[in-house]
This record gives sequence, C-alpha cells and structure tokens, in this order.
Amino acid sequence: MKDRVLNSGFSPIIHLMTTVYHTIYAMSTQNNKFFANFLNFFVFRCCFVWFRTKIFKILVIFVVFYQKIVYNLLMNVKMDLHTHSIASGHHTVDTVTSLAKKASKIGLDYLGITDHAPKMTGTASVNYFRNLRYADRTLYGVKMLYGVELNVLDENGNVDLDEDVLQGLDFAIAGLHKQTFKPKSKRENTLALVNAMKNRYVIAICHPDDPLYEIDEKTLVLKAKETGTAIELSSVGVSADGYRGYDIARLVNLLLLCKQHGVFITLGSDSHGVEKIGDFRNSLKLLNELDFPYELVLNCDPEKFFDFVRNKRK
Ligand SMILES: [Zn+2]
Ligand SMILES: [Zn+2]
Repeated sequence: MKDRVLNSGFSPIIHLMTTVYHTIYAMSTQNNKFFANFLNFFVFRCCFVWFRTKIFKILVIFVVFYQKIVYNLLMNVKMDLHTHSIASGHHTVDTVTSLAKKASKIGLDYLGITDHAPKMTGTASVNYFRNLRYADRTLYGVKMLYGVELNVLDENGNVDLDEDVLQGLDFAIAGLHKQTFKPKSKRENTLALVNAMKNRYVIAICHPDDPLYEIDEKTLVLKAKETGTAIELSSVGVSADGYRGYDIARLVNLLLLCKQHGVFITLGSDSHGVEKIGDFRNSLKLLNELDFPYELVLNCDPEKFFDFVRNKRK
C-alpha cells in the first residue's frame, strides 16, 4: 500500500486517469451526474480520437503544471482547514494575506488559518487569537476562516486557549506536539486526545498518525463518532518529504475505521507558508485507494462543515 500510494513517481497523466476513474465513481454516488457523464464521455470514449489533437496536448501540459488544481477540482475539494502564517513563528514568514493570495490562485473557496496556540514555543499570543475576529472575511475572493491549532496539554484533554477566545474563532483543531506533551503510554496519549474531543470548540484531531505518539485508533475513532469530532488526514503524513515520517499503516487503519463507523474527516495541508496550501494529491490518492466515501470529507462541502461546527458547539 505504502509503495503504491507514495512512491508512484511523477506520472501525472496516469494519476489523473486513475483519479478520473475514481472520481466518476464517487460523483455518480453524489449529485453531480452531469459532470460525471461529461468526464466519462470525453475521457473514456473520446480518448483515442483526442490523443493526437492539440486539446489533448494542452490538457497534458495543464495537468503537469497544475496538478493541485486538477486534483482538487476533480475531487471537489473546496477548503484547506490547516495552514500556518508567520504568526506561528517557525518555518515561514508568509502572512495571512500571502496565504490567501495563493489559495485564490489554486482555486480554493475557503482557507482555514490555524496558527499554533500560545503554549507552542515562539508562536502568537492570546491577543492575536482574540483579535482575529476583526480580520478580513474575504481576501482575493477567498473566504477566510480564522481558527487555531490547539496543543493538548495533559490526559484531561486541557488545551491552551480559554473558551472566551475559542468562541470568537471559526473553529479549532487540536493535537499532540512534543513541545507541550511528551510522548507517554498508548493509554495516556489516547486519553489526552479523547478528552480533548469533549471540548465543544475542537472540531478535529490533527495528525493522529504522528508516529511519535502511540494511540488506540479504534478508541479514538469511536469517541470521534460519539462527540461529533472529525479525524484529520494530514498531507504531511502522506507526503514523501513529510517531516513526521511514515506510519501509513496506522493512517490506513484510522481511515478504514472512519469509513466503517461513518466518522467525518478533514483534509489539512499543514502548510507553514504558501508552498503546500491545498496540496492534497497524496491524500486524495490514498482516499481513492481505500474507496473512502467523499460524503465524509468535510472539505468537499462547506455547508456540511459549518453544520458540523454548529452541532459541536451546541
Ligand atoms: Zn501540529
Ligand atoms: Zn499545524
């Protein structure tokens, strides 16, 4: 699985054809039948006629240079729900404005800014998060969502922003980070995340596939179902240059459990700066490999995402 998903090399046309095949299947189960039929007709019936035409060559060039857009367009991904600006203090000096500009270029409708919460070394203060409610709601045509990536601090699931700040943000994701939670036993790591899910502002657990922390995947997914929390599929975990190292087996297990129990997932690039915004190519390939239902991907349906946030806050 790992080899097939991650080391398939730079063959965008093959990837595109595979993605198109899976997309048509996924779309036929959703309500975009017209587009599905359109793709089916042109890609599969006219392929041989097309092969020598200029349009086909232009399409090839477009796919090679704009893979991110093509993938997101085909899989109907409209949001990136995990990105960092200069406020997070490390790995980037790109501002929220630069992030929005990039999101606009690659065709995202919504951009979620989730800078690290105050306990992380060198990140923004509480007042930064307090003031985000006054920031621009739209930049370069992209609808802005101002959130936070909280640090889960202990087994009781405590996090590093109080409710009065969290309620002014659009959403919060939470996860374990080595600066604020030293890896403990499987039971303690799991307990920390499970208790963090009880926080009504936490809509997703970010990068639960981090190999630094052993967790009980089934307990996590069942608690996600019970509390109305999502599980994040982080681009970092499936990227060949991801800094967390691979634990693709755990990620696959988490996704299969989500599929089995009908638990929602979020896609997050975890881009520090503009570079990786909206890059879900490997994530989408993995979801296709697993025949994962796209109805459970919150990034594909903003209305569903906002309902999800509202329900959690009730
Ligand atoms: Zn993180
Ligand atoms: Zn992050």
